[in-house]
Amino acid sequence: MNKKKGTLYIVPTPIGNLTDITYRAISVLKKIDIIAAENINHTKILIRNYKIIKNIISVNKHNERTKSKKLIIQLQEGKNIALVSNAGTPTINDPGYYLINYCHQFEIKIVPLPGPCAAITALSASGLSNNKFCYEGFIPSKNIIRKKLLNNLKKETRTIIFYETSNRIISSMRDITQELGADRQIVLAKELTKKWELIQRNTSINILSWLENNKCNIRGEITIITSGFQEKKINILPKTVLNALQILQSKLSLKEAIHITAKLYKISKNLLYSHITSKK
Ligand code: SAM
Repeated sequence: MNKKKGTLYIVPTPIGNLTDITYRAISVLKKIDIIAAENINHTKILIRNYKIIKNIISVNKHNERTKSKKLIIQLQEGKNIALVSNAGTPTINDPGYYLINYCHQFEIKIVPLPGPCAAITALSASGLSNNKFCYEGFIPSKNIIRKKLLNNLKKETRTIIFYETSNRIISSMRDITQELGADRQIVLAKELTKKWELIQRNTSINILSWLENNKCNIRGEITIITSGFQEKKINILPKTVLNALQILQSKLSLKEAIHITAKLYKISKNLLYSHITSKK
């Protein structure tokens, strides 16, 4: 008779605050046979907190391929395994890709648990359009590649999520400001769920100048969210209005010309102003 295969559980863990773990995650960690963890010591601290003692095997970006093959044998022999990373949801810029793909290949049951993820936590607080978004992972560290990526994202209309480290945040924000525009809405989410949690929303130029003025205080884990590209609205005004504005402008100050045109045609002064500035 064929031996019953085991199950691979994907178990998200806290992104800072140790209490951000679900009842189900704890109960899974208690009942499985092996924990496949990105960092053994890191995971030991977490499970000790919940009085869990387990056999932990390291699966990190350096040994992922070979370790995953060994874990598949254990799963085929009926062992249940929980995949965890150092923080958040495994495989989201964390190890797990190979193990999960082998599970599909060898028809091993995969049970993913919902739980913490920095990208989604930051997005939920961003106040930016959340119905459509894209996740770009870490911003490339090399200048040329970073600029190229940002340039390619210039016309992306969905909200964009990036991961970044504190030592590169200023150079990345400089490039974001340059490539996506100084008036792009940015949400800087730092140290989410931790003591020094900070969520700032402003234009990219203002976030950049805040970062430049607070260099020494920028430490910790950072998620950046940018608003998507929006076509600038072009004001369409009737020709008669535009002609009147033009004639008045040639004889009067801009302020007076706008004032009279607005009165004559019952049009808002702001609309006339933005028409003129959009022409410059
Ligand atoms: N798997 C994780 C998840 O589900 O969010 C992401 C792991 S990735 C290696 C680590 C990056 O996630 C950090 O460099 C940072 O950009 C982001 N991050 C992780 N924890 C965070 C936190 N508490 N606050 C803000 N960003 C965080």
